[in-house]
Amino acid sequence: MADHLILVTGSAGFLGSHLCDALLAEGHQVLGVDNLATGSLANLAHLKTEPRFRFEQLDICTPFDLGRVEYVFNFASPASPVDYMRLGIETLRVGSAGTLNTLEVAKRYNAGYLHASTSECYGDPEVHPQVESYWGNVNPIGPRSVYDEAKRFSEAAVSAYHRYHAVNTHLVRIFNTYGPRLQANDGRVISNLMMQALRGEPMTIYGDGSQTRSFCYCSDLIAGIVLLSKSKEHAPVNIGNPTEWTILECAKEIQSLLGATSEIVFKPLPQDDPLRRRPDISRAQRLLGWAPKVSLREGLALSLDYFKACVAAEQPQA
Ligand code: UDP
Repeated sequence: MADHLILVTGSAGFLGSHLCDALLAEGHQVLGVDNLATGSLANLAHLKTEPRFRFEQLDICTPFDLGRVEYVFNFASPASPVDYMRLGIETLRVGSAGTLNTLEVAKRYNAGYLHASTSECYGDPEVHPQVESYWGNVNPIGPRSVYDEAKRFSEAAVSAYHRYHAVNTHLVRIFNTYGPRLQANDGRVISNLMMQALRGEPMTIYGDGSQTRSFCYCSDLIAGIVLLSKSKEHAPVNIGNPTEWTILECAKEIQSLLGATSEIVFKPLPQDDPLRRRPDISRAQRLLGWAPKVSLREGLALSLDYFKACVAAEQPQA
C-alpha cells in the first residue's frame, strides 16, 4: 500500500506520532489530525519539511470529511490515567462519537481501519496473563471507567462496522508502552519515575509496589501494529511485551540504569488500579510473526536523552 494516503487520528500524541514516522518511512503519504487536547505539535516538529506529511487540527467528535483516504488509524484519545480522569467527558466522547466518525470515513472510502484499543479492556484481570478471549473485569462506574468503557464501546463499534458494513477493521489491544515523546508530566509510572530520578527527587510508588505491569518499547509496538494493519485479522490482538515487572522492580531498574540515589516513597494506591497486567502474545506471534525485541533496560536507555531534555526544559533560562 506504499504511496497511499493514510489518515492518523491522534497524530500529535506519543504513539500517533511514532506511527506517522513508521508510515512515512514505508513511503506513504500521511494526513495527521489531532485536537491537541493532550497531543503536542512538538511531537511532529521534525515533519515540518516532510512533503508527504500534512497536519490538520481537528476534533473527530464532529463528523468530518477530508477527502479520500486508503487507510484510517484511530489513535485519538487521552491515554494516561491522569489525563483521562481530568478529561473524563472528552474521553467518553472521543471513544464513542469520535470512533463512529472515523469508522464512517473508512466506510465512505472503502478504506482499511485500525483502532488503538487497550489492555484496560481487561480491567483488573482475573485471568493472567491476559488472552484476547477474556472479556475483562471492568468497573463500569469507577474513575477509570471513562477510559475503559469508551475503549470497550469503540471495540463494539469497530466490530459492528466490520459485521454490518464489511469494513476491513483491525483491533490492537495495546499494553503499557514507553519511549521518547511520552509526555513527561502525564503522571504515568515510567515518565514519573524517570523524571523524578533525573531531578534527584523522591520516586513515588503507589501502594506497596507489588502490582505488575509489562512494558513495551514504542518501536516494538509500532512494528506490531503496522503488521496487524496489513493482516486479515479482524478480532482483537494483544501487542505488548510479556516480561512482567512489579512497579518496585521497575523503579529499581531505573535507579540502577541512572546510578540514581533517589529515595523511594510510598503513596496511596489509586482506586481500581489493576493489580497485574501481562499480555499473552501468542496470537500476535502466530498471526503476525511478531515479538518484541527491546528489553526494559535497553528501552529506558533509548529514552534517556528524551527525558534529560524534558528535565533541562524545566530549568529557568539564564
Ligand atoms: N504508579 C506508581 N507511581 C507513579 C505513577 C504510577 O507507582 O508515580 C503505578 C500506578 O499506580 C500503576 C502503575 O504504576 O499501578 C502503572 O501506572 P500508569 O499510570 O503508568 O498506567 P496504568 O498501567 O495504570 O494505566
